[in-house]
Amino acid sequence: MTTVDLPLLPLGRGVDLQSERGVECPGDLPAASDPDLVARALAAKEALGERVFVLGHHYQRDEVIQFADVTGDSFKLAREAAARPDAEFIVFCGVHFMAESADILTSPAQQVVLPDLAAGCSMADMARLQQVEAAWDAMAEAGIQDSVVPVTYMNSSADIKAFCGRNGGVVCTSSNAQTALEWAYAQKPDAEGGAKVLFMPDQHLGRNTAVLQMGLTLEDCVVWDPHRPGGGLTPEQLRDARMILWKGHCSVHGRFSPDVVDALRAKDPEIQILVHPECTHEVVLKADLVGSTEFIIQTIEAAPAGSSWAIGTELNLVKRLADQHPDKKIAFLDRTVCYCSTMNRIDLPHLVWALESLVAGTVVNRIDVDPTTTEQALVALERMLALPGKTAKD
Ligand code: SF4
Repeated sequence: MTTVDLPLLPLGRGVDLQSERGVECPGDLPAASDPDLVARALAAKEALGERVFVLGHHYQRDEVIQFADVTGDSFKLAREAAARPDAEFIVFCGVHFMAESADILTSPAQQVVLPDLAAGCSMADMARLQQVEAAWDAMAEAGIQDSVVPVTYMNSSADIKAFCGRNGGVVCTSSNAQTALEWAYAQKPDAEGGAKVLFMPDQHLGRNTAVLQMGLTLEDCVVWDPHRPGGGLTPEQLRDARMILWKGHCSVHGRFSPDVVDALRAKDPEIQILVHPECTHEVVLKADLVGSTEFIIQTIEAAPAGSSWAIGTELNLVKRLADQHPDKKIAFLDRTVCYCSTMNRIDLPHLVWALESLVAGTVVNRIDVDPTTTEQALVALERMLALPGKTAKD
């Protein structure tokens, strides 16, 4: 796969840099002010019928999610795509790595479309293949590579999943991270000094899972900084570590802070703090409940009327939950309004443009992962699917 070596890959991987600047699409992008956008989207979906299946991530805008045939988190959506072999086109309203996963899990005959190629993910782009290969080489030099199992979060590019596939590793989600880590540590029972995990790209999910669910200590964890020589670690630090965390984070979940938790509790002693494990360790330590987006949705659905919640996840989802549950007090766990800017790239004009192009016989913004990457990434994804327990609930 061709990679574009930009820090945030704003145009996605392997695309013509001139094809889209994030504000224009090749062809006619409808004006956001067009009063007929909803009617146009409905008409295009109707014209395409069973040939198209539209997936909507929970963090998408309401104007887009209303057209989703199914909503979910990234892994659920990839599996939903794989369960629709008759759909010729999968229109993925989410971000780039999700569309890649859908392409990997669907048949070569199915085409996956991302309505705006500028919908990347800053976390996924914090781990680039050449950086990971360099870290892997450094681990060989430190004499520990044979003890390390690479584990990557679903929120990573296809080539990082492929790296894990060809190096004995696995993919995980926020729902099954503990099970995936237990599997990873069990792969190296005879490792000198104990098995180690290289966890990418979200240091917070890795740390929270290792320390809060698996009994490792903060001292067992080190952070590999790809922008520093040797990752900023000595060979001794690498040898002593059990968990090597990649220095990546989610720019949305990383914003939540412990002092806001304190302020909300002071104002409302009954409030319950519900956060995603991509939040920092300090925030997770102060929360009442921690879990994936699906867990957050299920928790609010099951909560009694009158209960009071502050939720630390993406704002589109928090707003939607507040709208759907007017009998519960639901607040956003941040002082300022902050959406995921790349998730928000998918708006109604881009969705209409993508659907109408398909009606006209043109597949725009296709996400097409090359066969070798697909094959190796599938190895890591299938190892995850074979894990016991929580995977089925994602
Ligand atoms: S919310 Fe965070 S992890 Fe999800 S797409 Fe946005 S930046 Fe990436």
